[in-house]
Amino acid sequence: MKPPSFSYHDPTGLGEALALLSQYGDESKVLAGGQSLVPLLNFRLAAPEHVIDINGLGELAYLRRTGGTLKIGALTRHASLERSDLAARHWPLLREAVRWVAHPQIRNRGTVGGSVAHADPAAEIPVALVALDARFTARSQRGTRTIGWRDFFSSALTTALEPDELLVEVEVPEVAPGSGYALAEYSRRHGDFALGGAAVLVTLDGSGACCGAAIALLGAAPTPVRAELAEKLLMGEKITEHVAAAAAHAAVDAVSPSGDIHGSSEYRTSLIEVLVRRAILTAAARAQGEDD
Ligand code: FAD
Repeated sequence: MKPPSFSYHDPTGLGEALALLSQYGDESKVLAGGQSLVPLLNFRLAAPEHVIDINGLGELAYLRRTGGTLKIGALTRHASLERSDLAARHWPLLREAVRWVAHPQIRNRGTVGGSVAHADPAAEIPVALVALDARFTARSQRGTRTIGWRDFFSSALTTALEPDELLVEVEVPEVAPGSGYALAEYSRRHGDFALGGAAVLVTLDGSGACCGAAIALLGAAPTPVRAELAEKLLMGEKITEHVAAAAAHAAVDAVSPSGDIHGSSEYRTSLIEVLVRRAILTAAARAQGEDD
C-alpha cells in the first residue's frame, strides 16, 4: 500500500524543526526512524498533512554521561545504544532491552526517541526506561519541559507530548552499585513484539538482602507499569525462588492485560508472572556477580 499524500519537510536544525511543529501542530507527524510511522502511513492508519523528517538533526544523536546521568539524544538509533560501551558498562538493562527489539535492519533505523514517542505498551525500550526511572525532555517554541515517566506515558500509543513538541532527550539516572538487571520476555517468533515481559533491577546490600528493586511490566497494561507492591515484597529479603515467586504473583495481581488473537488475558497474565519471577532471579544472580 501507499501512504496518503502529504507535504514533506526536512529541517536541518532544531530551530527549524520546532518552527514547523509550531506552524503545523496536530496536522503533522515527526518522522524519525520511520519503522513505526511508515507502516502506519502505508496502512492509512495515520494521514498527516505534513511529515517533518528530523533525520537532518544530527545534534539529537548522542549518548553521553553527565554527572552520573546518561543522556540519550532522541535521534540515537537503537543500534547505537546496542553497541554503546557506556550503556553496556553502566546501564546494561538498556542494552539487554534493545537487543530484543525487532531485527538488526530495524534497529539500524529505529530511534530511542521514536520508540518512546510511539509508546507501544509491548516495546522494550520504554519498559526498561520505566524501570530505570527515566525522564523525558520535550522542546517547542514555547519552551522546554522535562517529564517523569509516570506523567509521560498516558495510554497505549499516547504520551504527554503536545502536538508542537519534539522529544529531544531521555535522561537515565545512575544505577546503584551492587545492582543486577534482567529483561525477560516471550514472543512467538524472534523479533516480533512480545506477548509479555518484565524489566527488573535488584540491588543487594553487603549481606545479600535486597535494598532496592524496580519491576516494570511489558504488555500488561496500556502503558509500561511498575509493580510497586511486588517491589516492596522484595525489600529486605534474600532473593530465593520462594520470594521471587511471591513477588511475581503480586506483580500480576494488580494488572489485567488485554487479550487478542495472539493470547488471552489469562494466558498473558500467567506468562508475565513467570517472566517476572525469572527476571527477578536473573537480576539477583547478576547482582551477586554470577555469570549467565
Ligand atoms: P518513527 O516510526 O519515525 O515514529 C514513531 C512515532 O513517534 C511517530 O508518531 C512519530 O511522529 C513519533 N516520533 C518519533 N520521534 C519523535 C520525536 N523525537 N519527538 C516526537 N515524536 C516523535 N519495537 C519494539 O520496541 N519491539 C519490537 O519487537 C519491535 N518489532 C518491530 C518489528 C517490525 C517488523 C517493525 C517494522 C518495527 C518493530 N518495532 C519494534 C518498532 C521499532 O522499534 C521502531 O523503530 C520504533 O517503535 C519507532 O522508532 P522510529 O524511530 O522508527 O520512529
